[in-house]
Amino acid sequence: MGFTSRPEACICKHFLEAVEKSKYGWFWECPSGGKCIYRHALPAGFVLKRDKKKMEDKKNEISLVDLIERERAALGSSQTKITLETFLAWKKKKIKEKQVLNLFLFHYMLPWLLRNK
Ligand SMILES: [Zn+2]
Repeated sequence: MGFTSRPEACICKHFLEAVEKSKYGWFWECPSGGKCIYRHALPAGFVLKRDKKKMEDKKNEISLVDLIERERAALGSSQTKITLETFLAWKKKKIKEKQVLNLFLFHYMLPWLLRNK
């Protein structure tokens, strides 16, 4: 395998580890010392493991939102119907409740109030 097919193969593993763990900086020194033959630089387009993980997390986040949206879209038509049905049922119940309350007020409360006047 050549360097071109696997660019990470020629990068110093100590350097890579230091970058991954955010330890790399001005004062970082390769444990292999000055005789280290590997590169202490990242090739263009190289994706660090920690960035790859971040990207995957982001992807998972997006796919979860996607999934919810898709589920919602799938439910869409029936959900509207259910909402309308439940609303009408609720309204019917409220009207009935009001009627019962009015009846109760008229037949019981009013005579009682008049009697205690
Ligand atoms: Zn090195």
